[in-house]
Amino acid sequence: MVRLNSHPSGRHFLQIPGPTNVPDRVLRAIDHPTIDHRGPEFQQLGKKVLADVRKIFQTVQPVVIYPASGTGAWEAALVNTLSPGDRVLMFETGHFASLWKKMAEKLGLQPEFLVGDWRHGVDAAAIGAHLVADSAHAIKAVCVVHNETSTGVTSDIAAVRRAIDAAGHPALLLVDTISSLGSIDYRHDEWGVDVTVSGSQKGLMLPPGLSFNAVSPKAIAAMSSARLPRAFWGWDEIIEANKNGYWSYTPATNLLYGLSEACDMLLEEGLANVFARHQRHAEAARSAVRAWGLEILCQNPAEYSPALTAVLLPEGHNADALRKVVLQHFNMSLGQGLSKLSGKVFRIGHLGDFNDLTLMGTLAGVEMGLALAGIPYRPGGVQAALDSLRATAVPHGLNAA
Ligand code: PLP
Repeated sequence: MVRLNSHPSGRHFLQIPGPTNVPDRVLRAIDHPTIDHRGPEFQQLGKKVLADVRKIFQTVQPVVIYPASGTGAWEAALVNTLSPGDRVLMFETGHFASLWKKMAEKLGLQPEFLVGDWRHGVDAAAIGAHLVADSAHAIKAVCVVHNETSTGVTSDIAAVRRAIDAAGHPALLLVDTISSLGSIDYRHDEWGVDVTVSGSQKGLMLPPGLSFNAVSPKAIAAMSSARLPRAFWGWDEIIEANKNGYWSYTPATNLLYGLSEACDMLLEEGLANVFARHQRHAEAARSAVRAWGLEILCQNPAEYSPALTAVLLPEGHNADALRKVVLQHFNMSLGQGLSKLSGKVFRIGHLGDFNDLTLMGTLAGVEMGLALAGIPYRPGGVQAALDSLRATAVPHGLNAA
């Protein structure tokens, strides 16, 4: 007896907001014999990735690369710069900002968490007012998430920098770019960020397993007085070994091959083009959501995320039931709602190795899923996205001639 769809053929659509689809070029680069991480061949690789990755962070400062997930790089940012009992100012943009705050508590810091509604970005004016009130300069760091992956809201980091400067406050600025780096314009040096935290598995198009701290001279100086215990995460020994292209412990050699290739891809496309591509796909995705009559979780259009869109379902409908139908019928993974958004939203990842047809396949899967899951919606989202893409169509670089 013929059973349709008994085995998933074709490629899985991994449309969560990271980990993202790993392009073939990166997979081929990782698929390479592991070499001696203290030998001359590795040294060339080390020097190349350490130079290239700075361009992605838009910095000339050191970028420390850890064999760890993003959570490790969060911890590294805190333990290298702060001391037990230090006050840190954080802003509740959503699930990930809340987790970073929880980590700060576990490490013995005293976070002051400015309350947010999970539908807006960081309120730079509120950060500024809080810092002005701290005339004794007891707050040692401001920690914010650039792109809140749980809500699809992108915050204005340059505005946070301006608020800190306007308050005349010496706090360090620590920024999580785990779901923005390589997808959304981000400028470590120009925006005066002291530690930029990032991870491999989203805009960098790599598997999970690498994470990053881009560090400013002020952050490095803070290390000498920072007393939180650190060993594995210490920047000093890694930066010292990196000067010769090596690490102070065994690096994730094969992921570094992948990183080298991913940097080549991003730099060949040009960062400005990468960011514009993400903006264009995000706008088309939002056209679909509006046409379906569903609500975009982010309430401020200036803060819409170019990397993902979180979609609210009508009261009484469960987003996880929709995600289950989409996975079962179309072999596509959509992002789930996290913590207080559980069951209420689903998240469409449109970042990384992604093009017009990936977006259209993704939106077609969502639209069919809405019908199959019995969720009230207006048909026409796919058409709206097609119209949006057609209105902004550009020939793809390789075939443009
Ligand atoms: N911060 C943000 C914004 C994230 O999106 C994530 C993971 O998705 C993390 C932190 C945690 O990173 P990881 O899961 O790689 O440890």
